[in-house]
Amino acid sequence: MATLQTMRLLPVLIACYLCGCAPKQDAPKSCVLITLDTTNPDALDVYGDKRGLTPNLNRLASEGIVFEDARAVAPITIASHASMLTGLYPPRHGVRDNGYMSLPSSAETLAERAKDAGCRTGAFVAAGVLRELYGLNQGFDVYGESPAVSAHRGGVGDRIGTEVSAEAIEWLNGRDGEEPFFLWVHYFDPHAPYEAPAEFLKRAEGKPYLGEVAAMDAAIGPLLDRLRVEPDYEDFCVIVVADHGESGGKHGEASHGLFCYDATLKVPLIVRLPGRARARERSTERVSIVDVFPTALEAMGLSVPESDGLSLVAGDIAANRGVYFESYYGYLNYGWGHLAGWVGPGGKKYIHGPTPELYDTGLDPEETSDLLVRNPFGKYKDSDGSLREGGVVSAAREAMMRIAQAPALERTSTEEGAVSQEGMRGMGYAGSASVSVALPEPASPSTLPAPAENLDEHYAVWSALAQSDRGKVDLAIAGLQQVVAKNPRHSFAHSLLGEMLLEVKKPRKAIAVLSAMIELELDRPGLRRNLALAHAMLGEYKLALEHARAFEEFCPGDPQAAEFRRNIEKRQAELKSQRQGGN
Ligand SMILES: [Zn+2]
Repeated sequence: MATLQTMRLLPVLIACYLCGCAPKQDAPKSCVLITLDTTNPDALDVYGDKRGLTPNLNRLASEGIVFEDARAVAPITIASHASMLTGLYPPRHGVRDNGYMSLPSSAETLAERAKDAGCRTGAFVAAGVLRELYGLNQGFDVYGESPAVSAHRGGVGDRIGTEVSAEAIEWLNGRDGEEPFFLWVHYFDPHAPYEAPAEFLKRAEGKPYLGEVAAMDAAIGPLLDRLRVEPDYEDFCVIVVADHGESGGKHGEASHGLFCYDATLKVPLIVRLPGRARARERSTERVSIVDVFPTALEAMGLSVPESDGLSLVAGDIAANRGVYFESYYGYLNYGWGHLAGWVGPGGKKYIHGPTPELYDTGLDPEETSDLLVRNPFGKYKDSDGSLREGGVVSAAREAMMRIAQAPALERTSTEEGAVSQEGMRGMGYAGSASVSVALPEPASPSTLPAPAENLDEHYAVWSALAQSDRGKVDLAIAGLQQVVAKNPRHSFAHSLLGEMLLEVKKPRKAIAVLSAMIELELDRPGLRRNLALAHAMLGEYKLALEHARAFEEFCPGDPQAAEFRRNIEKRQAELKSQRQGGN
């Protein structure tokens, strides 16, 4: 149907047809999203580091807005990236943990919207947790991904920034230069283990994490240089943001994922708008990575649907804006209480969990002074020492409940049970849970163990992993046995213990440990797989096959799970024919 708009455009279209050029009026502007895994704001020069490790990001920042109060939605890679690409908080997109939860196909992603508007779309990611089977590939013409696992045990399924940049540049070079595009490039260098090349380690004064940040910046440089030679570069929107930070020992957390303190939730966010609008501005607006979605769409000149995010283009974020965050990592993998929360007016930050906390992040950015007096009336001691009613807390809880009650993305029945475990242990993520577990709502009360009070379990499990990597499996088993004795709902410790007992050829003991979890209704795909292996080891193929089938049911359509089951069937048939041959 010829709309009024196309009628008005007709003379332009005809003129363009005659001169052979494409009509540019309606073409979206290109957009580049650069995500920095595990990057603290203060690791970058532009946020205060004095070592000069990030000259390339500095230069970009000089063309755009630097946001000083930006937060991730979760200290979890896939949850944060799913929020950037959908504009939805995790309870709504449903991707709460790495390695077994995928973005439903009902999501309308940034890439899908860009592609529908005529953009070429390309993504190049650097970590196994973002592989295309987890659904973030929706809308991308090309999705360059990382290997699932590294070659060595305990290693990370990732690739270095120079490799990712090279792929992205090759894609840029190969496309039709006239076409607008949406490009997402993900860098994983600063993620543990820190293995910075010597030259960057030296520049970072021997600090391994900062050395990785410097290496990442150096890898980003050639990509930014390549973008700058695009004829339309001045019209580009470039967004640089981290998915979460790294705690580095703050609050007793070495890495990220367990807690919801700003040590891991605060992220760098740099937005370079078309025409370098608002260049060199430093914004103190309270923003979230969920804002990436509407910001990118508006900057590209596309329509902006309702989402949990706000567009940052105009700089009109209200002072009373609040942002949501969560971590269900401990709940899903360790049997701990979930954490969720809200940062609202005045920077008051409420962390809901088994032991609720309240901080004034303006006065106490390190979150060392919990304002909440733990009483049923929710009174808390404010920074000035006075006792106040807990209006902040109830407002935060109400805001969290609104998010929980907002419509979530629908899943097909296949997506409902989809689980994948590949590469999880090597990633440093437990990933032994199932998406079919009903999750508590963010503001719901929790009587489960508090993460902060049970850190010893976390470190016992990771030291067991390190011991097994060094070949000291017996020591690792002893450590894990202590953890499961203390916390019978620790699914990750049970899973690892069962696996190691199999390794030392103790299938009966492995079966006892793993079956206990199923009796506790903590059925997990990894448990089923290991139970199948244990029974197979004992020649009990009928039982092995039952568990292999249960494992496959957790992972519908996963070729590895199907192959696993077929191998068990094959062994069963071989054994049968051997027995018959023997008769
Ligand atoms: Zn991450």
